[in-house]
Parts: sequence; C-alpha cells; structure tokens
Amino acid sequence: MVEVCLICEKNKSGTKLKEGFIINNIRKIKKIFGIAKGNKLVVCDSCMEEYKKRRQNFEKTILLWSILGGILALFIIIPSVLMYNIYEILRSIITAIILIGVLLILVGMVRYIPKLETIPIKKTILPKKKSKKSTKRR
Ligand SMILES: [Zn+2]
Repeated sequence: MVEVCLICEKNKSGTKLKEGFIINNIRKIKKIFGIAKGNKLVVCDSCMEEYKKRRQNFEKTILLWSILGGILALFIIIPSVLMYNIYEILRSIITAIILIGVLLILVGMVRYIPKLETIPIKKTILPKKKSKKSTKRR
C-alpha cells in the first residue's frame, strides 16, 4: 500500500493513523463507487504540528456538537415528559437518539481526523522481535 500524508496529501512515509470505524466505512463507500485509492493514511513529520492542531479542533468540534445534541435532545424530550404520555416519551427519546446520531455522523464524516496509531504517551520500548513464523522452506 502506498503511504499518503493526511494533511499535505503527498506520497510520504510517516506516523500511521488508526484506521477505525469511520475510515473503514469511508473506504467501503469509496470501493462501491470505484474511487478507492487503497492508500495507507499517515502523517509525515513536517505535517505533525498541523495534524495535532486539526485533531484538537476535531475533538473540540465533536464535543461541541455532543453538547448541542444533548441540549437539542432535552428540548425534544421535555415537552413529551410534561404530557405524561409514555408513548410520547419513548417516541421523543428515539427521535432524539436518531437525530443526534445522524448529526454526529455527519459532523464526524466531514471533518474526521483520525487518531495516530501509536500513542506517544507510553514510552515503553519493546524490543522488536521479528517473530515471523519462518515459512521459508529450503
Ligand atoms: Zn504531510
């Protein structure tokens, strides 16, 4: 697989990005439309600062939208609670969950910045054993 930087979109090697749920789904959608490039997403060294900024922004955006979604949910649910109608309450809760889900997916898809695969906090250096099962037959 070709390594491509997420930020500058150049063909560079760098720190790998965690390809979670969203990236996998974007890839699936791209495959359906036949526009998948099959690239491995990385962040090159010169873009690391920019990446950190964008990741931070992304986390803030998600947090903000979660809070907004929560407020929105209250506005949907509270009136039904005041009606003392269990069906109305259930209906409004489901509506709120779907609405917030869709909202977060949309926000996440548009501005998605994945995490780095290697978490730099843990600095335990494990000796890399090349423990590949030797399938070489001589
Ligand atoms: Zn780059």
